[in-house]
Amino acid sequence: MNIILLGPQGSGKGTQAKLLATELGVPHVSTGDMFRAAIADQTPLGVRVKAVLDAGELVPDDLTIALVQERLSGPDAVSGFILDGFPRNRAQAEALDQWLDGIGRPVDAVLCFELSNDVATERMLARADAEGRADDTPEAIARRLEIYRDQTAPLQEHYRKRGTLVPVDADDSIDAVHAGIVAALLGT
Ligand code: AMP
Repeated sequence: MNIILLGPQGSGKGTQAKLLATELGVPHVSTGDMFRAAIADQTPLGVRVKAVLDAGELVPDDLTIALVQERLSGPDAVSGFILDGFPRNRAQAEALDQWLDGIGRPVDAVLCFELSNDVATERMLARADAEGRADDTPEAIARRLEIYRDQTAPLQEHYRKRGTLVPVDADDSIDAVHAGIVAALLGT
């Protein structure tokens, strides 16, 4: 299955993506993880995007789209993928749709994690204490939520029109959210 996870940071998207990837036996493709790995390895891409991530801004679309296409072209992603953190705006969504439709691998479901801004901010601040991520400063968190609201949340409408949107109540325990997702996807 080809699945996209849409939701604000702090919605538990990453945790659920990993669980689902294991359950379905498909790779978890997180653009945030890929950028963080590039930064840690000091690759040319990492050096280029570090300041962008630290500020909570979006990496330019051309770089991000190319990265995702390359990753989804890998042999392990042919039978499916869980895409986490991409697309984040209309240009990315349209590029992805066009590419996947063109190669006959359309998206099956877009899981939309629904959570209030307050709870999302609370969870991100808690994670900042626990993990010490460089982009979990209050300013970067606020900027990421703003970008989510302005550029990413409108994609719900885009996928609703395509008939692939699946709402997920993210304000529940990890197990309960996971069970809800599996039931919605597999009809169990
Ligand atoms: P995440 O781990 O998904 O919260 O992503 C961390 C950071 O990586 C974001 O704040 C952006 O700077 C960058 N990033 C991740 N995914 C994308 C994307 N699809 N487009 C642009 N930038 C991204």
